[in-house]
Amino acid sequence: MSHEMEIIRLRKELAEYSRRCFNRGLVSGTGGNLSVRVPGTDTALITPTGISLGDIDPEINLLMKIDGTLIENPCGLKPSKETAFHLAVYQIRPEAGAVAHVHPPYATAYSNVAERLPMVTVSAQGVLKEVPRIESAMAGSKELYEFVKAGLLKYPAAKVLLMKEHGTLAIGADLKQSYYLTDLTEDTAKIAFIASQIKAG
Ligand SMILES: [Zn+2]
Repeated sequence: MSHEMEIIRLRKELAEYSRRCFNRGLVSGTGGNLSVRVPGTDTALITPTGISLGDIDPEINLLMKIDGTLIENPCGLKPSKETAFHLAVYQIRPEAGAVAHVHPPYATAYSNVAERLPMVTVSAQGVLKEVPRIESAMAGSKELYEFVKAGLLKYPAAKVLLMKEHGTLAIGADLKQSYYLTDLTEDTAKIAFIASQIKAG
């Protein structure tokens, strides 16, 4: 596949998984952002700011170098507010192929009250292993970017991080994996919450 064809394919995939995140209730309003590395390169496609993940079309995504240089912006939109921490993931983790940042309700609730997500199922223990929490700062701020960078270095094995009072950050080999990791994280948080409400025998 040519480089151009690969980018067209990834644009479509980014739109598809953005919409899946919204339709699965992992994020609401215009929150959240997804990105995908063009395999074998130092470039990545990222969703624009101000548009719901439920409305992402392939051509509105922006192509950037992971140093922050804009390469392709067919619709003239602004890149996601959280572009800096997406690019930090690709810089710090060379194996990272895609990043999903969303605000799933149960996982976000745990981010408010717990240092880490309780690993209450065998799937969570086997796949996620640990979902530690990083500190909170305003969306789009330099401070939040620094907290994400510090978290990636502090927890090198974590595929998903909880962002305090904010949401989740999942790092996968590709978009499908970062989506599945987020899906499993939210389901784990939901089960942990339900289990906490049931009084044993
Ligand atoms: Zn966010």
